Amino acid sequence: MHRFFIPPGWIRGDHVLLGDDVAHQLRHVLRLRPGARIVVLDDRGAEYEVALVSVENKQARGDILARRPASGEPSAQVTLAQAVLKKDNFEWVLQKGTEIGVARFVPLITARTVAAGGDGVSAAKQERWARIVREAAEQSRRGALPVVAAPLTFGEALDDLTAGLTLIAWEEERAASLRDAVAPLRAADAPQVTVFVGPEGGFTAEEVAQAQARGAVPVTLGARILRAETAATAAALLVLYELGALDPA
Ligand code: SAM
Repeated sequence: MHRFFIPPGWIRGDHVLLGDDVAHQLRHVLRLRPGARIVVLDDRGAEYEVALVSVENKQARGDILARRPASGEPSAQVTLAQAVLKKDNFEWVLQKGTEIGVARFVPLITARTVAAGGDGVSAAKQERWARIVREAAEQSRRGALPVVAAPLTFGEALDDLTAGLTLIAWEEERAASLRDAVAPLRAADAPQVTVFVGPEGGFTAEEVAQAQARGAVPVTLGARILRAETAATAAALLVLYELGALDPA
């Protein structure tokens, strides 16, 4: 069944009213008719199985058949602090990171970030990013929408750090492995891990030192140099794997 994240206000008792962008997709893209079943999610921990009653251009209506806890979320909260990348590489990180189970994306402007442009990331681009994450979350059956934070400078992102383990993926790191760094969190209930990944030109040594001074642990992703988008998705997946968050429930 197709899944849609909707504003909680569209849920009215045992019915749901679906606004124009969803109604349009139902009618003209998916060509669903009354009687078809879909799943809607309120992004507050619940999902609803719905039988469509009417599907018009601007609005669709459905009867709620069942309400259940939203499934599909990993037990660990991974934040990916990823330097903004050129072309659609950053969008690729958003899509794959969402499929993998990243809970939050922080677009970074670092010393060597070239993709953000002089005047920063436009509102239109941030809206496109949110749409890519939403579509990937619906397609991959996520139970919650990953958050795409407003872009931050490297220093702002370090100031923004809260509880949990912070890793910085650094290709010059020769000793510390991601596995060893994550191991102490294996027994934690809902571990929180933030992973910093640099731009095409990498982090400066000063940035790595600055992160270490704030408690971040530099880790290697192996002896090979990965493209940033490869490192980002590999690191997110490895953290979830090492924390057992990909194991069968
Ligand atoms: N210094 C790299 C080079 O020589 O091409 C440029 C940086 S790499 C393309 C982009 C980012 O991916 C790095 O900033 C780092 O965060 C991550 N990365 C790539 N390979 C890595 C590795 N083997 N270990 C840890 N991080 C890696």
